[in-house]
Amino acid sequence: MDMTQHVLDWYDSHRRDLPWRMPPGQHADPYKVMLSEIMLQQTTVEAVKPYFQRFLSLWPTLSDLAAASQDEVMKAWAGLGYYSRARNLYKAAQLIMTEYDGQFPDQEDELLKLPGIGGYSAAAIAAIAFGRRAVVIDANIERIIARYAAIPDLLPAAKPAIRAVLDDLTPNERAGDFAQALMDIGSRICTPPRKKAGQLSQPQCLICPLASGCQGRHADPSSWPRKPAKRARAMRRGEVLILVSDDNHVALTRRPDQGLLGGMMLFPTTSWPDGSRRHVDYPIEANSLLGALLEMYQATANQHRLNQPVHHIFSHFELELKVTIMTGVRRQLMQDLLVQDLLVQDLLAQDLLAQVIWCPLTELAGEAMPSVMRKVVTLAEAHRGRFMS
Ligand code: SF4
Repeated sequence: MDMTQHVLDWYDSHRRDLPWRMPPGQHADPYKVMLSEIMLQQTTVEAVKPYFQRFLSLWPTLSDLAAASQDEVMKAWAGLGYYSRARNLYKAAQLIMTEYDGQFPDQEDELLKLPGIGGYSAAAIAAIAFGRRAVVIDANIERIIARYAAIPDLLPAAKPAIRAVLDDLTPNERAGDFAQALMDIGSRICTPPRKKAGQLSQPQCLICPLASGCQGRHADPSSWPRKPAKRARAMRRGEVLILVSDDNHVALTRRPDQGLLGGMMLFPTTSWPDGSRRHVDYPIEANSLLGALLEMYQATANQHRLNQPVHHIFSHFELELKVTIMTGVRRQLMQDLLVQDLLVQDLLAQDLLAQVIWCPLTELAGEAMPSVMRKVVTLAEAHRGRFMS
């Protein structure tokens, strides 16, 4: 029996039961495949499951999702991270409804034209939802194949060789099941090395359906794929302000749609530039919203600065945020100043203050806030009582 058939047979009896999957040999709903594949980018299956279910109960079909507002989609995505995925998913749903008359594209090259759909997702959707022969390759599958063929080159130079081996193994029929089998092997058997009791874990070659043809299994398989030495993550620092009004509202701002945390709701914060120094208070930038708010309220509000900062790890940098809480601020003061044009001499401050969205504290939990801001809330609650009710 050839290796590919061996893997498919293994899949028939050992596959994971996941909410977006169909039984072996059957094509899945392309909407569910796209939703799950976009959610699974950089995110674990366990983290994705409740979000996947929530999206399906809110928007059972692609046209339902396309008819929602971006705000609703961002709120439902809050906490899952990498928020550009939510914006792209929403745009892709709208594009399919308008440009493709609601018919899901079924070829890789057409799928690649959708926002947020890269080579991996296009191949996965084409293979799993439409039964196309496509070479589906992500970091997990890359690891399996690099070990299986003992590919000596460092990543990313090794990618063409990995693809060539995978192309040879990929069947004409059931390419989607084959890809999902490799995903399952990557998650349960041919796992990345993890530290356990001071030692690196090894893949479970004894139960692997690829074992009989695997060249790497007898030579420290965890050393594949070969990678260049890691660079340390950059450290960034900044300040964040929780501003609570005397009528129980909290000040938020919405990030621009493009870029990091695009479209998400944040507490007023400084920018987070590279190279900010450890143990040094980050300077509040002149002409920033945070600066304008402090100037307006510092004299009258109760102010408390937390000693303990919030830490959060993004994909390419680590962030440390120092938190200031101001309570009892007069929300009306800002409205009065804006309405009466009393800040007319300071048009920049006016523009900045107009960005503030006052959210009732009782509704804060439902806002589309990223995980880093949820951590800020948790820390603030621990020090100053509950902010969310
Ligand atoms: S035999 Fe071992 S190293 Fe080879 S693919 Fe399977 S688990 Fe990975």
